[in-house]
Amino acid sequence: MIVHLADLSFFEPICSLYLIKGEKIALIDAGPSTTASQVLKSLYERSISPKDIEYLIVTHPHLDHAGASSLLLKEMGKAKAIIYYTGLKHFLNPEALINSAKLALGEAYNYMGGMEALNEDRIITVKDEEELSLGSLQLRFLFSPGHAPHHMSIFEENSKVLFPADSYCVYFQESGGLLPQSPPPHFDLERVLSTLRKLKDLNPKVLCLPHFGKVSENIAEFTDKNIQRFEEWREILKGLINQDFDYIKNYLLGKYDKELGIIKRAKLRYLLFDMHVKGFLNYLTI
Ligand SMILES: [Zn+2]
Repeated sequence: MIVHLADLSFFEPICSLYLIKGEKIALIDAGPSTTASQVLKSLYERSISPKDIEYLIVTHPHLDHAGASSLLLKEMGKAKAIIYYTGLKHFLNPEALINSAKLALGEAYNYMGGMEALNEDRIITVKDEEELSLGSLQLRFLFSPGHAPHHMSIFEENSKVLFPADSYCVYFQESGGLLPQSPPPHFDLERVLSTLRKLKDLNPKVLCLPHFGKVSENIAEFTDKNIQRFEEWREILKGLINQDFDYIKNYLLGKYDKELGIIKRAKLRYLLFDMHVKGFLNYLTI
């Protein structure tokens, strides 16, 4: 059974978390350190003790997904964190990750908080196509770079539920809005596009998006729309590349704010939009 556990939030949602309950229970992503107590509360509300969790699967070392991992593991008895093997150094010593996040996030860093190192004996590393049985449910880990270099998705084979982490755009369910997730400094458009095509070929029945919520209809069409949105931004930003940053940002807001709702919303959404525009431009200029 796949459970939408919580939308961690500070006025604005930050990250949707999911539980996979076979005979063993896995939690997908930890959320930022600032919302660790929200995760624990959500578990208790479902009569689940953190000690019942066997695996904390962290899709990639970004603070809104991994920040609370050490804090949660302290409450989770013998649970192990599962991470993609190339990202191990960031979990053992998150200093470089935190410094890079401060630069990328700017003021939004205050909403996320930092991250504590994990003990190596609490970590299991996995590689592309490796599998894990939770009893009746079978997980397959898929290397899915582009959004970040150490980034993986998870596919549950029996129910065909896909956890694509941040490969897709941020999806605002209330308006159908799509915002490319292109944070600096490692966003790589070509890799995102090939990751999205690879994920589409799995024919998932349900997408469990961290930003935000489940999508359970017309997944192929939804994936195509995501691909188109990334390609559309590439063309627009290539055309504006010599303009100053505020001009570019305002142009995008003029074109997309009706669906993204950035201007009317709390500040966090604006700050993250700002970061993704910078990351996209960074990719196009290097
Ligand atoms: Zn991310």
